[in-house]
Amino acid sequence: MRMILLGPPGAGKGTQAKILAKKLNLAHISTGDLLRQNVAAGTELGRQANDYMHKGLLVPDELVSEMVGNRLKERDTEKGWLFDGYPRNLKQAESLDALLERGKIDLDCVIDLDASEPVIIQRLSGRLACGNCGANFHIKNMPPRKPEICDNCGGRLYQRPDDKEETVKKRLEVYKKETAALIEYYRKQNKLQRVSADLEPDIVVDKILRLLKKK
Ligand code: AMP
Repeated sequence: MRMILLGPPGAGKGTQAKILAKKLNLAHISTGDLLRQNVAAGTELGRQANDYMHKGLLVPDELVSEMVGNRLKERDTEKGWLFDGYPRNLKQAESLDALLERGKIDLDCVIDLDASEPVIIQRLSGRLACGNCGANFHIKNMPPRKPEICDNCGGRLYQRPDDKEETVKKRLEVYKKETAALIEYYRKQNKLQRVSADLEPDIVVDKILRLLKKK
């Protein structure tokens, strides 16, 4: 299975992707996580990406496409993969299509997580991320067992700098301007399935799994 999770920031892509990747035994490829790892490690890519991420803007396509191309060369992707946060615009979608065509690999399915704006704002403003393993929590919806400590690995939880109100607004604008066009792009390829993502995470996961079984 090779699939993409689409949807605005706050739709729950990261949460869904982690659960689905585990259940379906897929490599979870989050371009946001890969970029944050590069920023934390102080690599050249991280240095170039940092400013765009802080402003809620997309990191330039060439940097992201190269990073994705390298990630797809890793062994664990042979069992199948799930993209979370990639592609983010038409150019990236076309570059992914070209990459898959060269490798004679089929994309099976694109799930669009459809979330309403009040839910998005509520989720992002209370989101806590683990600096160590990348797990997500929420102050109200999914609080960690111990305040500020990750249930999974004991790492410290923090608020992502791009989850601040002003940056969230910018990220939503960028989504509408650049990423939303991918819904039509994948609909035309007959790959798109839409799922309402306003509900609890386990309900959304069940809905996605049921859709995948029908395929
Ligand atoms: P995310 O964790 O998916 O919300 O991504 C956080 C930030 O990383 C985004 O706001 C962008 O600045 C950057 N980013 C993540 N994925 C991409 C991508 N596919 N293309 C460009 N920038 C990206």
